Amino acid sequence: MNCHAVPNSLQPIYLNSYEHIKIRGDTKISLNLCTLASGSKGNAIYVEAGKTKVLVDAGLSGRETRRRLQSIDVHAEDLDAVIVSHEHTDHIQGLKVLSNQLNLPVYINYPTLSNMKGPGIKGDVREFDTGGAFSLQDLFFQSFSVPHDAADPVGFTIEYKEVKIGIATDLGFPTRLVTERLKKCDLLILESNHDEEMLKLGPYPWEVKQRIKSRLGHLSNHQAETLIKEVYHAGLRHVILFHLSEINNSPQKAGEGISLLLKNPGYHPISLSLAVQHTVGKMVSLTHENKWT
Ligand SMILES: [Zn+2]
Ligand SMILES: [Zn+2]
Repeated sequence: MNCHAVPNSLQPIYLNSYEHIKIRGDTKISLNLCTLASGSKGNAIYVEAGKTKVLVDAGLSGRETRRRLQSIDVHAEDLDAVIVSHEHTDHIQGLKVLSNQLNLPVYINYPTLSNMKGPGIKGDVREFDTGGAFSLQDLFFQSFSVPHDAADPVGFTIEYKEVKIGIATDLGFPTRLVTERLKKCDLLILESNHDEEMLKLGPYPWEVKQRIKSRLGHLSNHQAETLIKEVYHAGLRHVILFHLSEINNSPQKAGEGISLLLKNPGYHPISLSLAVQHTVGKMVSLTHENKWT
């Protein structure tokens, strides 16, 4: 696929091969983003805008995080901060080592910080209040509470000039607050964890199945689809489905409902992609004018 083209197809783009766009020198570009990993074995999202480079979650090991950053020509030493959604291991596995090695500021709420196991973060901890907003150099973050079985889990919107992205992963259901916060985004990273039927028939023990589908568990494909319908607007250009279960979901299952939804008359073309566990996603770039490069 041509990296610079806007995908016209409404079919999901399966990101099983790494593609990188070397266009960061282009002055038109305002915000670049790529998923370093997604799923129960580790989650991390790289965001850069202006002179600011951050990770949202650091769920891979320190070494693997560095390796994947290097594959997109980013040195871990150049990161400005890590922002943490919640304390589950798949979101913080590499947090302490990265923070301690690089003296990297960590933006985190207090309940999450105090529920992390093991020795604390030695470096620069900057607490934010859940529901609060904070500026991080060129980026403006708005946190919002999500229903999940962690101490105080949050999602984020991130704004840079006119560009707004929304990140909501690890949530049992879309609350009214989540829906409100995800409106008017140019790009959404949204959990699409499981296919309800696959989960029901799958190998997990009954208690685990109950936990996943509970209101403090994970978002199903169907719930993700419904949420996208709710927050759809003419400015929405890209949806990245995130945190897919490797056991209770498939790329086809995750993509098909939303592809069908977006084929309805009245929906403009939206680029739909799936973030995966073992491969870095494609770099996505958003411009001030809300055009895709
Ligand atoms: Zn979690
Ligand atoms: Zn998770």
